[in-house]
Amino acid sequence: MAIQRPKGTQDLLPGTVEQWQYLEETIRKVCRDYGYEEIRTPIFEATELFQRGVGQTTDIVKKEMYTFLDKGDRSMTLRPEGTASVCRAYVEDKLYGQSQPVKLYYSGPMFRYERPQSGRFRQFHQFGVEVLGADQPIVDAEVICLVWDLYQRLGLKGLEVHLNSVGCPTCRAAHREQLQRFLTTRKSELCQDCQERYERNPLRILDCKNPNCQAVTEGAPTTLDTLCDDCRSHFEKVLSLLSGAGVAYRVDPRLVRGLDYYTKTAFEVMVEEIGAQSAICGGGRYDGLVEEIGGPATPGIGFAMGLERVLAALQVQGKFPDPKSKLFAMLIALGDKAQNEGFAIMNALRGKGVPVGMDLLGRSLKAQLKAANREGAEFALILGEEELERQVLLLRDLNSGEQTEVPLSKAIEVIYMKHQRGV
Ligand code: ATP
Ligand code: MG
Repeated sequence: MAIQRPKGTQDLLPGTVEQWQYLEETIRKVCRDYGYEEIRTPIFEATELFQRGVGQTTDIVKKEMYTFLDKGDRSMTLRPEGTASVCRAYVEDKLYGQSQPVKLYYSGPMFRYERPQSGRFRQFHQFGVEVLGADQPIVDAEVICLVWDLYQRLGLKGLEVHLNSVGCPTCRAAHREQLQRFLTTRKSELCQDCQERYERNPLRILDCKNPNCQAVTEGAPTTLDTLCDDCRSHFEKVLSLLSGAGVAYRVDPRLVRGLDYYTKTAFEVMVEEIGAQSAICGGGRYDGLVEEIGGPATPGIGFAMGLERVLAALQVQGKFPDPKSKLFAMLIALGDKAQNEGFAIMNALRGKGVPVGMDLLGRSLKAQLKAANREGAEFALILGEEELERQVLLLRDLNSGEQTEVPLSKAIEVIYMKHQRGV
């Protein structure tokens, strides 16, 4: 039996990989334009980092982590997300000692043991951004604008930014009390998970996907109802900055990130057309996280974007540029001696940055010309025994069919100049 790739993983083959490269290049360009620098952290970390940094009560930590003991009996986990690692690095590598804020981005594979389905994989890829050391609402707006701008540059349509404020620990305490009071008589109608949440973290009941729980919480008090003055003015400022920047957002009071270190702004970007898994980006402020993992009290905000889902949206909407990388010329050498000479010419041209190809299968002239056309080459460079004797190279323009002779000694220069001029 042939060995198969693990469930929930993908081989990214030529044809699709160009789409990934295009997406990744666009991401890097946007990050550079906004002054964000790349950070690369390990793909596995001490399990405790995620238990503390993502939270013991989350689905990720409770059900979805790839955890193993290494040969030294240390519990390690393949990273399920990027924020915890970036915050760990911020503390461990003392980035808080540099000028603030620190604006970072990452892009790479993440691992979650989930039920594979459309838009949901066990190895998937996230691009994310984290800004550490700045608590002003203008930072929240900048981060959301970066996401919005990236989608505009990619040409994505049908997007909506959902936005909420979950407040700070102070105003959340008031919300918790009001929410528990609202649910007190209907507690038994909630799902098992939510009955536990009722005591430990009632806010997350608002986030439950169970339709029954959603019905029970219809009309429940939201965090927006109990925001303190500071959180309210922060939220209003974010909204006014986003309006000014032309971002299409919708305030969604049910959007929550339920852990204590998530504060104030929470957001998600949804796209139509890619099916049930329509969230392509999720983020928010986490002013308590760096302290939670043992660092100095530091405000932070960031997001993570699922690249498989962004790619799915781009595919559905047909937004990719022509992925085919074209050869400029195909060198067609016939005979052993011509092959030696041709091989040297091809290498010299490649060394000058001209994309040139050559037959690798010993095919006939006719088959090689066909291949040149298939590769989209502008020119065929033909070198047979007879040309070699006369020390010339035939230069055939594959668009017009026109054919000229170039002295072999000048061939590299002539072809290089044509490539430079784009003809
Ligand atoms: P979901 O509700 O889809 O499970 P989540 O709350 O687990 O999302 P986050 O942890 O906030 O998602 O991750 C941010 C983004 O990463 C998501 O919006 C989504 O685009 C993507 N993502 C999350 N899990 C997966 C997965 N298993 N496969 C593919 N993409 C994923
Ligand atoms: Mg999930």
